[in-house]
Amino acid sequence: LAKASGKNRYDFYTQEMTDQALERILMISAIRKAIEQQQFILHYQPQIDIRDNLIIGAEALIRWKDPQRGTIAPGRFIPLAEKTGMIRAIDLWVLDSVCRNIVEWQRNGYQVPCISVNISARHFGSNSLAREVEAILERHKCPGNMIELEITEGVIMNNPTRSGSELAQLRAMGIRLAIDDFGTGYSSLSYLKTLPLDRLKIDQSFISDIPGDKNDQAISRAIIVLAASLGLEVIAEGMETEEQRQFLISEECFQAQGFLFSKGVPEHRFLSMLNKH
Ligand code: C2E
Ligand code: MG
Ligand code: MG
Ligand code: MG
Repeated sequence: LAKASGKNRYDFYTQEMTDQALERILMISAIRKAIEQQQFILHYQPQIDIRDNLIIGAEALIRWKDPQRGTIAPGRFIPLAEKTGMIRAIDLWVLDSVCRNIVEWQRNGYQVPCISVNISARHFGSNSLAREVEAILERHKCPGNMIELEITEGVIMNNPTRSGSELAQLRAMGIRLAIDDFGTGYSSLSYLKTLPLDRLKIDQSFISDIPGDKNDQAISRAIIVLAASLGLEVIAEGMETEEQRQFLISEECFQAQGFLFSKGVPEHRFLSMLNKH
């Protein structure tokens, strides 16, 4: 009996694994098609000075407009794109689009802030990034200081020496550098000091339960103090409530992005938030 049920279980898992593998293969080919047919669009989420609500930057966030399935959030395809190496093409498409937009918006008279672009951990470690970024900036004649690249801490700390030289090459082009989701990974504090960074982004998981969670308050406070003592800017992600805004102001973290001000919006709506010269 045990053997029989064991076998049944085996069959069941095999079927389930086959379904998963099939779904994965279908997803991979759909992503490949999305890249070819340009089914991606960008939303922009403003970053503000929370003392006066002035826009100080924006983060480009990718969205997939699938003709059948509608809008697909990055959480559903970025991880798979990372595993299969397609993330490189996606990240470069995003950066290329952002540079094109910045130059065009400036030409149309908008006061454009620095735009943040997410670079996947896998792509950052690939050694080709600095060269690719330089070519894209050059193609659009986009000043490096209009771009900030967001990288998560894990990839930097995996190989701090090599990361340091890759970051230095990017910095030499004027690009700003930020650590995304700060606090969720593991950062060596002594390396943080030596790397050419501009900003830490406090992960939204530490902001979302403020004011209720005292531990999250303590962690956020510690990150803010750490950033200040390292001479780095700090921005809070996922600020949704007025209480969170008050907490951040009292801790002297004056930069935030979050639904309290705006979620990521399509280009035309983002432009309507910017001033003209
Ligand atoms: P992330 O880089 O940490 O981006 C911030 C995420 O938090 C975005 O989700 C944004 O919509 C969301 N968010 C911002 N404010 C709030 C808030 O107040 N409340 C809540 N609940 N959420 C908020 P999104 O757009 O779904 O992106 C998820 C993740 O996907 C990003 O996390 C990033 O890791 C990745 N991603 C997004 N766009 C790109 C891209 O162009 N390239 C790469 N490589 N990754 C991307
Ligand atoms: Mg980000
Ligand atoms: Mg983040
Ligand atoms: Mg992230």
